[in-house]
Amino acid sequence: MWPLILDRLKKVLWSLRVRVHNDTRPLRLRLLQWRLGKLPVVADPGGGAAVIVAPHPDDDIFGAGGLIAMKRDGGFPVRVIFLTNGEAAHDSCCGMRHELVGQARRDLAVDACKALGVEAEELRWCSLPDGGIPRRNEAGYAEAVEQLAWLLKESGASEVYCPHVADGWRDHVSANRLVVVAVRHSGLSLRIFGYLVWALYDPPLTEILKLRARKGRRLDIDRVKSRKSAAMGLYLDASPAPCGFPYCGRLPQSLIDAVREPYEVFLPVPDA
Ligand SMILES: [Zn+2]
Ligand SMILES: [Zn+2]
Repeated sequence: MWPLILDRLKKVLWSLRVRVHNDTRPLRLRLLQWRLGKLPVVADPGGGAAVIVAPHPDDDIFGAGGLIAMKRDGGFPVRVIFLTNGEAAHDSCCGMRHELVGQARRDLAVDACKALGVEAEELRWCSLPDGGIPRRNEAGYAEAVEQLAWLLKESGASEVYCPHVADGWRDHVSANRLVVVAVRHSGLSLRIFGYLVWALYDPPLTEILKLRARKGRRLDIDRVKSRKSAAMGLYLDASPAPCGFPYCGRLPQSLIDAVREPYEVFLPVPDA
């Protein structure tokens, strides 16, 4: 009797939590935009070679495609490190085989990066598990830190861009932590910046409140916006997977609209 009641209660509480979370999303987004609106707008991405770390093929373009195009226009080298192949994008729709999804996303990433001036030889692939980028005390963590530190050294870059923890999405938060630890491990004095992808759709309240917005910057990407949009189109409008959805998965339209805005946000990491 009691276990049944407890089970019922747990389910009710969970659905209530989900409902509150969904209902407060527009409010959280407005709060985030208000905080980001305080950031200074810059028209120049700054000099120096850059590394973009993407948990999945497409995060680089969605979060920092404008910056990539502007850096390349300025003649600065840009390297992209993909932590996973994004092979789990169809787990919740058609269950398409991981090797097929991963390969398709890698091919699309090559085209999308090329469209912004980054050739295939500037791409690096870590092939960590999609949905399971390792965290401290998890299998494969030490190896992942070692590999990423080596790739950062090899790049010769002076700055690295990775997802900000405000993205909330597990792999994005793991990628952020991995980059911070790998930079420390490498002994390089790389500057780390966080870009936003999922935060522009569903930002956690705690992270919004923690944002030290004034320390970041909004990069005006208006002059390269159409090229970024075309690169995004390579992911979103390419011939879809057999289930009918893009290989990068079914993304909310409001997220796509948000990353098509004429500016990109970069926040210093760690931001404590
Ligand atoms: Zn992602
Ligand atoms: Zn599918």
